[in-house]
Amino acid sequence: MAKERVYNFSAGPSMLPEEALKQAAEEMLSYGDAGMSVMEMSHRSKPYEAIIEAAEAILRKLMHIPDNYKVLFLQGGASTQFAMVPMNLLKKSGKADYIITGQFAKKAAEECEKFGKVNRVASSADKTFSYIPKLTKADFDPEADYCHITYNNTIFGTRYTYIPDTGDVPLVADISSIILSEEIDVTKFGLLYAGAQKNMGPAGLTVVIIREDLIGDPIAGTPTMLTYKIHAENGSMYNTPPTYSIYMCKLILEWLDRMGGISAIQKINEEKAAILYDFLDSSVLFKAPVEKEDRSLMNVTFVTGDADLDAAFVKAAAAEGLVNLKGHRSVGGMRASIYNAMPIEGVKKLVAFMQAFEKDNK
Ligand SMILES: *Cc1c(COP(=O)(O)O)cnc(C)c1O
Repeated sequence: MAKERVYNFSAGPSMLPEEALKQAAEEMLSYGDAGMSVMEMSHRSKPYEAIIEAAEAILRKLMHIPDNYKVLFLQGGASTQFAMVPMNLLKKSGKADYIITGQFAKKAAEECEKFGKVNRVASSADKTFSYIPKLTKADFDPEADYCHITYNNTIFGTRYTYIPDTGDVPLVADISSIILSEEIDVTKFGLLYAGAQKNMGPAGLTVVIIREDLIGDPIAGTPTMLTYKIHAENGSMYNTPPTYSIYMCKLILEWLDRMGGISAIQKINEEKAAILYDFLDSSVLFKAPVEKEDRSLMNVTFVTGDADLDAAFVKAAAAEGLVNLKGHRSVGGMRASIYNAMPIEGVKKLVAFMQAFEKDNK
């Protein structure tokens, strides 16, 4: 017998909805009347075509993606988008604005530097990325080919609560750890991208949502596989897409739809985050290092201020079935990632455990 399922607070790959996992288990050996697993299917077969089309349709419905945007199912993770974005979008001035709010933003900007000129408009490195810079239109370069932001900073636990006004400059956002968790107005962006393994499925799939007018010829020397136009023209089937990850993503999107969609899950996510932050604000042992107004609903970071006590907490929590609470290796402390699939009971159990730990360690 396998071990009972735990509450997994991992930042990614992370917890997935049990209903979707069960359905995948049921369909593992034979999908519908196909007589084979989805893993064994040709990506060009009728049943598989229906799967990828349904995945796109339901994503469009849930995120209200307008018709003048293409949805691409790619591979290579969000990190590959750090390169694909500049290779495909740096076409007029060869300049791009980046707002540096954490490690992934930093990496994205460094990758862009290989292909063009990066203007670091603002950075919250001065306070260990514990806040989101508040910017106005005057802060941005009107000649930039695009402006890049990291909407939710998975490692530090911050998120934008406003959409920067960049005027006519297309806004590009890494939404890896916030996609599907709260309403996002797609029309405010030129391009959105997300690695699936945070909140929409298993690793191996990267979703790109791109406004059609931004799909053009990339800079000279761009490999075929890194060209948005190729993937857009071929319906994400230029080569073999990550078929099983897309199928899992479809099951998770269907689950979310049954839950009432993004507005419904957003309410639950706000409630979950409030339970945790309210406790942190009243705790004498644990502290939340992030600026209140910029707190992430998905990745909640906290510390005791004592590295040994932090380690003891993480270990003791794991023994209670509350696993992967250790903070990112670069920042230490703790981090509870509470994506869509984390039930409210998991958060309540975590807070109850923190209260008990606090009592024992005062
Ligand atoms: C996890 C993460 C990445 C890196 O994603 P990969 O799919 O591993 O390349 C980039 N940006 C954000 C915001 C992330 O959370």
